[in-house]
Amino acid sequence: MRQRGSEDGARGSDGAQGGGAKGAGAAAGGHPFEITGGALCLDLANTVDNRPTGRRRDYLATYDDLVSWGMQAGALTRDEAAGLRTRARRDPAQARRALAGTLKAREAIFAIFSAEAQGRRPSPEALATFETALPGALARLRLRRGAGGYELAWPDEPHLDRVVWPALRSATELLTSAELRLIRLCASETCDWLFLDRSRNQSRRWCNMKVCGNRHKVREHYLRRRGAG
Ligand SMILES: [Zn+2]
Repeated sequence: MRQRGSEDGARGSDGAQGGGAKGAGAAAGGHPFEITGGALCLDLANTVDNRPTGRRRDYLATYDDLVSWGMQAGALTRDEAAGLRTRARRDPAQARRALAGTLKAREAIFAIFSAEAQGRRPSPEALATFETALPGALARLRLRRGAGGYELAWPDEPHLDRVVWPALRSATELLTSAELRLIRLCASETCDWLFLDRSRNQSRRWCNMKVCGNRHKVREHYLRRRGAG
């Protein structure tokens, strides 16, 4: 089984070490997520551990977890995260609905990209779920003039669905890009994490060499020794 966190879990984009078990890393923004997918939508799909086993673990148990993930994955600034947390405390029922909607979109994203990674057509149900959620996200985009010209940006107000919008946009961009063929499913039988294989000879097999790759090496070593003995 995957054991992530304090020892072997590489921290997200800032490269800092994780703060230990769930809850202990609250100062750094909650559970230390691994941001290794190479695209925001894949990192959202990768918030479940041991997905294909009976010991599935979902790291997005609360709206607060979702905000922590959004910040660590680079989808939210610290100020945006703080604004969403305040809003969620004021309207917990709406925050729960927003989390449920995000998890539904996440499962559709996983179903679509895991199928593509295995050279299969995604199920019509997963595509329909995705397509139903998409307009609500893209309709929020605003044209903004920055220093270098115009850009598409999300509105400033703390809308509780704010975390899933950029993930849906990321999934759309990936589905319609040439990088779709670089999607891989981790080679570990218990993992099911997704990533973009941007390695030079496209030979990356593991979501994270330190976790899944290392466990595979240990297991091979054990089997070799047992075979020799
Ligand atoms: Zn893995």
